[in-house]
Amino acid sequence: MKTILITGAGRGIGAATALLAAEHGYAVAVNYRKNKQAADNVVNRILSNGGRATAIQADVSKENDVLRLFSEVDEHFGSLHCLVNNAGILERQMKLVDMDYNRLQRIFNANIIGQFLCCREAIKRMSTKFGGPGGTIVNVSSIAARTGSPFEYTDYAASKGALDTLTLGLSKEVAEEGIRVNAVRPAFIHTDIHADGGEPDRINRVKEAIPLKRGGSAKEVAEAILWLASARSSYSTGIFIDVTGGK
Ligand code: NAP
Repeated sequence: MKTILITGAGRGIGAATALLAAEHGYAVAVNYRKNKQAADNVVNRILSNGGRATAIQADVSKENDVLRLFSEVDEHFGSLHCLVNNAGILERQMKLVDMDYNRLQRIFNANIIGQFLCCREAIKRMSTKFGGPGGTIVNVSSIAARTGSPFEYTDYAASKGALDTLTLGLSKEVAEEGIRVNAVRPAFIHTDIHADGGEPDRINRVKEAIPLKRGGSAKEVAEAILWLASARSSYSTGIFIDVTGGK
């Protein structure tokens, strides 16, 4: 049984990915930051369907938490085959001119430093160079990396641009070590994240400008993530799948 670690898997895209991964036969490490009840709910749904899963609290923006997260995965599952760097945050919509230093630190710590740390720990376990079985890393980026999100969250967009660059560079760095690194770039997915930006109904406001004329579901993103995580995408590395309704 392969083990998949999904960061931020208590809610939204991460939760949908955890549930679908279990359906695909993975043992699932369900990471969450503070909403234990949501993560436990995902784990219980997997267990009640006969799957294997555990919830692990860790804030990926903190190095000590990341180290403990991977140790707990080692202890609980024994090996790691896939990492989904899904955890991510955005903050209230505003222009760059109004952004303060603390906000920038929170965004970049959670959306890119944490992903570097998780990739580092995953490589130590997966790389054939270190005696590991090889593996896959899937980064959850955003259409914002392409658009820049002016007037809303240029900080978030820039962090996702950095995640795309990490995906490209790392995919080449570890290709000969049995690890593939790819990314999905969602947009307009029905989750709680839009409320964090101060506009819970954002998708309804913009949906007429989306070619498919609707928002997407977390499961539609999960499908792309799990394709990239699996051997079904065995000849792809350093690529991006946009799940954006045609935008
Ligand atoms: P969401 O519904 O707000 O869920 C975010 C999840 O990430 C929660 O489980 C949260 O944990 C966890 N999390 C946040 N910060 C964390 C941290 N520092 N350490 C560990 N876990 C953390 O968000 P979502 O919409 O599913 O977004 C998931 C990913 O997709 C993000 O990277 C986001 O940027 C990206 N994305 C989303 C959309 C969209 O339209 N929804 C579009 C493009 C990209 P708690 O439950 O404990 O708070």
